[in-house]
Amino acid sequence: MRFSGRHRRFAMLSVAQAQALVMEQARPLPAVQTALNPECLGLTLAEDVASDVDMPPYDKALMDGFAVRRDDVADGSAILEVVGEVAAGATARMQVGSGQAVRIMTGAPIPSGADAVVMVERSLSEGERQVHIDENGIRPGQNILRRGTEMRQGDVVLRAGKVLRPQELGLLAIVGKTVIAAHPRPKVTVLSTGDELVEAPARPSASQIRNSNGPMLTAQVRRAGALACYLGIGRDTRESLVPLVQSGLDASVLVLSGGVSAGNRDLVPTVLQEVGVTGRFHKVQLKPGKPLFFGTRGGTLVFGLPGNPVSALVCFELFVRPALRVLLGDRNPIRAPVQAALAAEFSYQTDRPTYYPAILEETADGRTVQAVPWFGSPDLRGLGQANALMVLPAGATRMARGDKCATLALD
Ligand code: AMP
Ligand code: MG
Repeated sequence: MRFSGRHRRFAMLSVAQAQALVMEQARPLPAVQTALNPECLGLTLAEDVASDVDMPPYDKALMDGFAVRRDDVADGSAILEVVGEVAAGATARMQVGSGQAVRIMTGAPIPSGADAVVMVERSLSEGERQVHIDENGIRPGQNILRRGTEMRQGDVVLRAGKVLRPQELGLLAIVGKTVIAAHPRPKVTVLSTGDELVEAPARPSASQIRNSNGPMLTAQVRRAGALACYLGIGRDTRESLVPLVQSGLDASVLVLSGGVSAGNRDLVPTVLQEVGVTGRFHKVQLKPGKPLFFGTRGGTLVFGLPGNPVSALVCFELFVRPALRVLLGDRNPIRAPVQAALAAEFSYQTDRPTYYPAILEETADGRTVQAVPWFGSPDLRGLGQANALMVLPAGATRMARGDKCATLALD
């Protein structure tokens, strides 16, 4: 699709069509070698990782107790001679012969000759040198994890594409992988636009409002896993916007808010075109968020979000976040709505698909959803009570309590 200025008209895209156009332009950033540390949390692995060790590295006791020969205790009761003790980290040099036992700690290697561990609760020590075992049905191998059960040296334990959680960071440490190939965090510049805006510390005059989109969008960038660079407020003039937009275009993604609607001060699409951004679409069948603009310059993705805070937030979640997730290497970048039962009846009339702030809850009886009181796209306070968006089709919606409604989780 070609785009030439804000006066050209396109058939308005659906959310899914617009998302597809964004996905077409987004590519994972080339992987870089990254030292393994907690900052790797949430990065996507770009290589398969094999273990350099067997785990466990030896036959290992899973309980504190006594390492025994199973045949000695087959009757369920026996008095054995205690010939030593092995703690975790020690080497088991002794041999367990017939009629003998070794006191053993969780994690310690099983001494040779023993083939079962009896937990300490099933034993009665009779002095240092003797133990009375009392347990029926002891199996060979009981309470022992055999060498290599979890993984063998050379096994692939993680595949490229895995988004790293704390447990994966632990697994990488186990296999000695201290430097990983991972997709880096994209840099995202954030620019608010509007003559009426002042930053939060200022007291707005009668004709001004405070800039909520700056802090909100930079936080959304962070939450998506990317690095935000806030550029401040651009005014509704070519002279103000051109240099700011130019500086913002050195990032992987430029996110603007405001100035994309139909007013004659809405200069963002024209200015973007002037600095070489190719428009990919402008306007989506969506409420709130219809005026959304998307374009590219080279590999940089450019999103012009509508200025109303809830529109900006919804457009970010539907379009910017998935793009950032692709850049981060995530192979499941788009969150799918879930079905939830209405907790209270709900009626709504709308001319286009609407994302309505709501509270989504997991209850013992399944998921429920309930609309919050909301006064439309400027109403960030109403949205603040929500943790999800109900996805409502165009037209009249009349839903009774218990009816299913597609719902998109936000948090
Ligand atoms: P616009 O998209 O520029 O037409 O702006 C639509 C509405 O959103 C107007 O009421 C603006 O005042 C408001 N708005 C625009 N940018 C911001 C911002 N950064 N923070 C809060 N409200 C904004
Ligand atoms: Mg404006």
